[in-house]
Amino acid sequence: MSVGLSEEQQQIRDAVGEVCSDYPGEYWRKLDETQGYPTRFVNALTEGGWLAALIPERYGGSGLGILEASLIMEAINASGGNAAACHAQMYIMDVITRRGTEPQRQRYLPEIAAGRLRLQAFGVTEPTTGSDTTQTQTRAERRGERYVVHGQKVFTSRIEHSDLMLLLVRTTPADQVDKKTHGLSILLVDLEQAAGRGIEVRPLRTMLNHHTCEVFIDGLEVPAENLIGEEGEGFRALIDGLNAERILIAAECIGDGDWFMEKGCSYARERVVFGRPIGQNQGIQFPLAKAHAHIRAADLMRFQAAELYDAGRPCGPQANMAKLLAADASWEAANACLQTHGGYGFAADYDVERKFRETRLYQVAPISTNLILSYVAERVLGLPRSY
Ligand SMILES: Cc1cc2nc3c(=O)[nH]c(=O)nc-3n(C[C@H](O)[C@H](O)[C@H](O)COP(=O)(O)OP(=O)(O)OC[C@H]3O[C@@H](n4cnc5c(N)ncnc54)[C@H](O)[C@@H]3O)c2cc1C
Repeated sequence: MSVGLSEEQQQIRDAVGEVCSDYPGEYWRKLDETQGYPTRFVNALTEGGWLAALIPERYGGSGLGILEASLIMEAINASGGNAAACHAQMYIMDVITRRGTEPQRQRYLPEIAAGRLRLQAFGVTEPTTGSDTTQTQTRAERRGERYVVHGQKVFTSRIEHSDLMLLLVRTTPADQVDKKTHGLSILLVDLEQAAGRGIEVRPLRTMLNHHTCEVFIDGLEVPAENLIGEEGEGFRALIDGLNAERILIAAECIGDGDWFMEKGCSYARERVVFGRPIGQNQGIQFPLAKAHAHIRAADLMRFQAAELYDAGRPCGPQANMAKLLAADASWEAANACLQTHGGYGFAADYDVERKFRETRLYQVAPISTNLILSYVAERVLGLPRSY
């Protein structure tokens, strides 16, 4: 049980949990086997208005804060599902809400809120530049009322299940800007219009069912009116969106952690070996107890980050630390749960191995643990920059 939830917030988490109860482990397991997309589940969440939580009411959303949005994501993962199938819409939306022009907001947000448009893809990572986003190579050249884009993205998740994609591009060559964070821009790509016109999408098989793809872009034309925010200031807009992303991912990890705890402790109580429940042995109890303590501590940091974010105050350190601590705690919980299950932890029917693979991702994406540690060391502790 998290601290400080209002009755309304508790109701949100319970209501999402109720939706999730129609999609048990068997549903996710089948999708995992077939690499399928949870269309039915995402539709149910959309119809319930849950994915429009961050869209202001005047555009048809429910105008909730990041804390409420994080509770929605947490509830999905705590139920045994995987919010990664739909989490991008939440934080990508924030880029449009904060940085988009009024005509852009009016055009897209009501359609997204109503579920007629899906904004699920964010093309940032590139094969050659990796974590060093300032070195983005995908370039967009302004020609009259269009941008013409060339480049390549990798690990662009859910693009095949999205109508729109936010794309990070370089609009001013790196050697013509005074700061390496300048000259980047964000374009909104209408994927239906783009299909077959300079964009090729190839699925990339990974260790978890994540619908991620390589994207090859050669002469894609994007209307200039689809520029989000100011040209050349895309890095700033990206950073703004990242705090929301960190908080939401932290919440997913907390949901995962709680799922592992519930699953691990139930098994520890029931499994009898050497004539007693394995959970009676401290060798089984202590790793579970430690992981639980770490999940709860990460949860507090999630609350602090969300509170600052919703108050419009700077929250970079807290959002990053929440993601770091929650990803570590969920991974620790995953290990404890798997170990508690012995051989059955590896058996697909128990879902532990699937969730184990799913939560492992958060040590690497959307930002790797090392990069957060660097941020904390340099930006919070004032240590010399390493890159
Ligand atoms: C399943 C999946 C889904 C994804 N979905 C998306 C998506 O939808 N959109 C998107 O844009 N991206 C997505 N990503 C990409 C993800 O954000 C990147 O993989 C991640 O940011 C790391 O980048 P990289 O893989 O290029 O690793 P690299 O940058 O090559 O880093 C490799 C390793 O070196 C470490 N490292 C690098 N530099 C330093 C340093 N200076 N100090 C210490 N350690 C360092 C990193 O921490 C990492 O462990 C996804 C990735 C996966 C696996």
